[in-house]
Amino acid sequence: MKQVVIVGGGQAAASAARTLRSEGFDGGVVILSDEVYYPYERPPLSKAVLQGTADAVSTCLLSEDDARSHNIDVRLGQRVEAIDRGNRTVKLGSGGILHYDSLLIATGSRARRLEGDFADKRNVFYLRSLDDAAALRAAMAPDRHMLSIGAGWIGLEVAATARKMGMQATVVELADRLCARSLPADAGAALAEVHRGHGTVIHLNTVIESVGGQDRIESVTLSNGKTLAVDMVVVGIGAIANDVLGREAGLETANGIVVDEFLRTSDPNVFAAGDVAAMRMGDGRLVRMESWANAQDQAAMAARNILGRNVPYVVNTWFWSDQYDLNIQMIGDIQPEGGSVLVRRGEGRAFTRFSVVDGRLVGAICFGTPRDMAIIRRLMSKGYVVTDDALVTAPDLRKLL
Ligand SMILES: Cc1cc2nc3c(=O)[nH]c(=O)nc-3n(C[C@H](O)[C@H](O)[C@H](O)COP(=O)(O)OP(=O)(O)OC[C@H]3O[C@@H](n4cnc5c(N)ncnc54)[C@H](O)[C@@H]3O)c2cc1C
Repeated sequence: MKQVVIVGGGQAAASAARTLRSEGFDGGVVILSDEVYYPYERPPLSKAVLQGTADAVSTCLLSEDDARSHNIDVRLGQRVEAIDRGNRTVKLGSGGILHYDSLLIATGSRARRLEGDFADKRNVFYLRSLDDAAALRAAMAPDRHMLSIGAGWIGLEVAATARKMGMQATVVELADRLCARSLPADAGAALAEVHRGHGTVIHLNTVIESVGGQDRIESVTLSNGKTLAVDMVVVGIGAIANDVLGREAGLETANGIVVDEFLRTSDPNVFAAGDVAAMRMGDGRLVRMESWANAQDQAAMAARNILGRNVPYVVNTWFWSDQYDLNIQMIGDIQPEGGSVLVRRGEGRAFTRFSVVDGRLVGAICFGTPRDMAIIRRLMSKGYVVTDDALVTAPDLRKLL
């Protein structure tokens, strides 16, 4: 194999390119990115970048120097328009054509947008890129009122950052709890308490009925009858897989590009990894993850399999979020069907919540207890058997190892 082409220049692309080199591949490695920045990580965008303590340099995953020293050809501002699988080429927005022997699609996902009243308004923000973060940060200032639409991770992290900056923050959420797709109800309720304790106003079971303002949103009227004056609106209502290239090239797609456990698409010369990949599990379920750890590990495994290693990818389920001074981490199955839950109380609002199925520890949430996560990983990997309430009562969790 002479040349691996990677479409997309984010976390997965950087991880795959580095892995190709660390595995000894000495052919061409080309990253085609439609952004103007070398690959960077996105988690700080809603945290340190908004606060002004991280920037394009500190978030960079593969700098120009790194790329040069690993002989990785990073082409910025190069949008891929189409894949021609028959000829094994990609067509660039600039009109050029590039040949591949193996192709990795790592195009990630994009923010879901609100249309109608929210389209083309100057003070409506989304957060996906460094440029988005810069625009949002420029609009944030003490005493201004930020409205977050959607109580998912991004909406909540941005609200927390706004409060830290002395802004007023209000969150409006359609569901009856925070992070409804990813947190169980009790953890969602605990998170709501943290936000309310920091002065963020949360409206659950609520939608926006109407808005006031011409080219800016100046007020919103909620379904609970309240009308709020707002200075800016951040929309965090989920992400959509950038799978159109795959679909138009005739690859199997289903809310993402479908891959097998080797990260191979329906074309054996084309792989996908990161937010864009929907991986078919043994039981037929499709799992598409939107997380740092998955993008990192899945792309590294895709690179190995491009080189013919044939190693199945085991989903890395680890996820974290930082809100105010609270760190939340999750791993494994945190809402198991037919399982039970054990809760170990920490200081203040902190707790560690274990999921147990058939006597096995299958997942956990560390809510303000980050040190427990390393121990839980080890307990899970050694197949810790739950026979009593030691997970809750042991003075030191490490003693269970
Ligand atoms: C604000 C924010 C905060 C986050 N916080 C956390 C967190 O705390 N914890 C956590 O685990 N995860 C977090 N995530 C999720 C994590 O960052 C993503 O899961 C990860 O970035 C996915 O990596 P990726 O490479 O698949 O996609 P991306 O990083 O999105 O990279 C895809 C790249 O491909 C480019 N591209 C798309 N189409 C084309 C094309 N046709 N041609 C060329 N280039 C193209 C895109 O512009 C982009 O640069 C956060 C994400 C965001 C946006």
